[in-house]
Amino acid sequence: MKKIGLIGGMSWESSLVYYEIINEKVREILGGFHSSKCVMESVDFAEIEKLQHKNDWDALNKIMADSAKNLENAKADIVVLCTNTMHLCSEEIKKNISIPFLHIAVATGKKIKEEKIKKVLLLGTKFTMEQEFLKKTLKNDFDIEVIIPNNNDREIVHRIIYNELVHGKIEADSKKEYQRIINNSIDNGAQGVILGCTEIPLLIKNKDINIPAFNTTRIHAESAVEFALEQESIID
Ligand code: GLU
Repeated sequence: MKKIGLIGGMSWESSLVYYEIINEKVREILGGFHSSKCVMESVDFAEIEKLQHKNDWDALNKIMADSAKNLENAKADIVVLCTNTMHLCSEEIKKNISIPFLHIAVATGKKIKEEKIKKVLLLGTKFTMEQEFLKKTLKNDFDIEVIIPNNNDREIVHRIIYNELVHGKIEADSKKEYQRIINNSIDNGAQGVILGCTEIPLLIKNKDINIPAFNTTRIHAESAVEFALEQESIID
């Protein structure tokens, strides 16, 4: 089994879910007493959030690259960055390590393509919805058309992530807002929705909506396990 390196803490509410999914998946595949070989470099989200909203991506690039290097030094075989937004730093991370980096948009794009879905709504932080770093991978590598909510709704989605979800607050009214935004996108041709922030699956479940949800936390975590067990015989 290969060792998974996780950059977590953004927020820890979702890093916890990564750890749980990774171990559940290893147990499902290998059975018995098996659990994941992994190591997590967990940051202080207060520092990250401050730099994000100051748009200091040089400082953020450095923190992410240093975290990835620490994982490589801890003998991780792959780096998994447990947040969509911070994939803005993925080029800098890749430059600084010699182990593979498992990009969240690549894992998600593969899954969407398997479902033969061509047009999706992307929900996430404003960084994720408004910038190109996830959308271009989905478009160029998987030929998936990505739409985003209107300006006002993007503000709502972003505010709920930073004011509630990263603090572990799950509010019924916020769920209704997300449901409304997802339903509007169906009228605009969306065949699925990317829950493109690792905390959104804490609020929105498949049963809450009428189109397939692509849960980036689960997809990313399960892809990490597939990588870790690739060479592994399923039976000991
Ligand atoms: N976890 C979130 C994401 O997947 C947002 C927190 C962050 O800014 O990293 O984008």
